[in-house]
This record gives sequence, C-alpha cells and structure tokens, in this order.
Amino acid sequence: MKTWRDFDVRAIQRIVQEHLGADREWSDARFTTFMEHATHDLSIPVPCRICGVQFPLNRLDHQCYPEDVWINGYVHSTHGSEIRRTGFQSHIERLQQKYPLAPQHHQLFRGLHFPTDAVFEAFADALDDNVYQCDTATSWTTDAQRAAQFARFMLKGGHEEALRHQEIRRMIDEQANMTGAFGVVLALTVRPDQVLCDIADARIGGFPESEVILLPGTYHVAIHDIFVRQAGTTVWPGTTDAVRLVGVL
Ligand SMILES: [Zn+2]
Repeated sequence: MKTWRDFDVRAIQRIVQEHLGADREWSDARFTTFMEHATHDLSIPVPCRICGVQFPLNRLDHQCYPEDVWINGYVHSTHGSEIRRTGFQSHIERLQQKYPLAPQHHQLFRGLHFPTDAVFEAFADALDDNVYQCDTATSWTTDAQRAAQFARFMLKGGHEEALRHQEIRRMIDEQANMTGAFGVVLALTVRPDQVLCDIADARIGGFPESEVILLPGTYHVAIHDIFVRQAGTTVWPGTTDAVRLVGVL
C-alpha cells in the first residue's frame, strides 16, 4: 500500500507554504496532518518517487512497473550515463507498446547548448550533411519553444553546476541574451519505429517538457534555429527573432 510519502509532493508543500505566508510556521507534523486530509479530498496529480507515473492524490495506490522506473531514472539522469547508453534495452518492447508515438507528435525538436565556440565548431563539423548521430537514447520535444530554452540556457543537470553559475553571472553582467556561446535547435520528422517512448502527455516524473525519447540511431535533421550570444542585449529575443545562420553549417 503506497502512501503520500512514496510520492514527490514538494510542489504541494511549496504551494501551501506560499499560501500560509513565510511568517507562518509549517512544521512537518502540520504538513503530515494536512496531507492526511489532502489524500482524501484532492485529486491533483503527483509523481511516484520510484516509477515517476503521476497519480491523483486521492488514488495513490499502484504497482510500479520496471519500464516506468527506467523512464523515471532516465529523466533524472545526466548525459552519457549508463541508463541512457544501454539501460533501456530490456524495456524497448514494453515502452514502445505502452507509450507509442502520437500521430500529432511526429515533428520533434532538440535544443543543444554550446558553452564555447570550439565545442560549437566541433558539433558543426560533425553534423555532416545534417546527419545527426546518437549513440545513446536522446530526448526531443514536441515544443519548439521548449527546445529553444534548452538551446539558450545551461539548464540544471545538463552541465556542471559551477560552470552553470559562472555562465549565469557572466550573462547578467554582460546583459547578454544567453549563457554559453551558441545554441542550436534541431528539427526532425520522426518515424514511429525510431521512438522508444512518447511521454509528452504522460509527464513521467512530473516534468512539463513534452518529451519524446528516441532510440540511438542516425537521424536526418534540419537546423530550426541557431542562437548566438549577443552581449549588451537587454531584451531577450524570442525564437522567431533568433539569428539564423543555416548557411554557415
Ligand atoms: Zn510507482
């Protein structure tokens, strides 16, 4: 029998704390009492800590399945980890059956962030004839704006924290429009057999990233956007204003 302690309820804790105000005491004991009521009365979805699947607060009991445990591990993992390289292999069939590509999700985007010119140039050289080689399972999104966010900013988890903090400080000091040196958004028209799982609507782990995870492979991509660091820019451009340098590649 699962209880709310098996779920990631930090978001609820934050909301309740904001509601109470910072000056009100919110002890663990009070939160426990609150949750005992909430699990009867509230139907808001919360993700299981083990499998990442979301369940309504008033209907938490469930069985965790290994394929979901893999996805939950994946969405919390770092690039190049074992879970992305080979960890999915024994779950491929289940994942493809359970989370097939939705027909409206065949157009996907992937935001890549480059901390330095050299790293960007190496990527541009490797992207021969717009063929993108993936040796691991990779995350794509159905949302081009979301991909642009990944392309423009060093997000938590993707880079070393110290480098990320240093870059954020530099971005603020220089009033630049992004961290790092370059960002690229790749676009891809995907076939269902290339997809490991489409969790755009399932939101495993509670992430609102409209995510589709692809199998390792060779993908023919288009360059959707290229972002170039612009120092002294106080107004941050949207995707449509981004500098397009498709010819450079
Ligand atoms: Zn679970």
